[in-house]
Amino acid sequence: MRRLDRSARSFLPTHLSLPQLRQSAAGCTGCDLYKHATRTVFGEGVARSSIMFVGEQPGDQEDLAGHPFVGPAGKILDKALVEADIARRDVYVTNAVKHFKWEPQGKRRKHKKPSSTEIAACRPWLEAEIQVVKPRVIVCLGVTAAQSVFGKAVRLNELRGRPLSTPLAAIVFVTVHPSAVLRHPDPLERTREYQRFVEDLRSIREQLRSKAA
Ligand code: SF4
Repeated sequence: MRRLDRSARSFLPTHLSLPQLRQSAAGCTGCDLYKHATRTVFGEGVARSSIMFVGEQPGDQEDLAGHPFVGPAGKILDKALVEADIARRDVYVTNAVKHFKWEPQGKRRKHKKPSSTEIAACRPWLEAEIQVVKPRVIVCLGVTAAQSVFGKAVRLNELRGRPLSTPLAAIVFVTVHPSAVLRHPDPLERTREYQRFVEDLRSIREQLRSKAA
């Protein structure tokens, strides 16, 4: 990944703990995304969670609430976790980019995909979260998350559904972002895509259990 003039790196605290990281990230101006968002939305969950889910960026509701995965995509993730028998207490959820990027669409704030530069600028926060939480498995929800975790542009379909490894974690899985499930206009396709998402989570759970056995 190329060297950046600006990034979150200069905002990292000297002592890495989740409360310290959260506090420091609240004042991050490592790229321009902070200018139009309400607040930094940092990851949530307990240190030493077995699984870290990495999404793209906070959405409209997350930006207002200040918590990740509380909007429609978060509800899909919560439902799928229950169906895959993964305990929420074992899970840390975060995003590759910590500020909401959007463009106006009438009265709405429409989600806008973060650029490669913004993903790279925000990566130090994700690296620090991984260093503190030390998850056994990282799950990339969508291509932006995978780009951040792998440190390069990737194709989701080439990586989906099998265990991979990166310098950041021994086991990494890539699957879709739950918002992609919601976006399917056809209800039948939506159901199929949701089932496939749950199957991906089940295979991650199996992988964890086989490693623990
Ligand atoms: S998106 Fe990340 S790097 Fe950019 S200002 Fe927000 S926290 Fe900092």
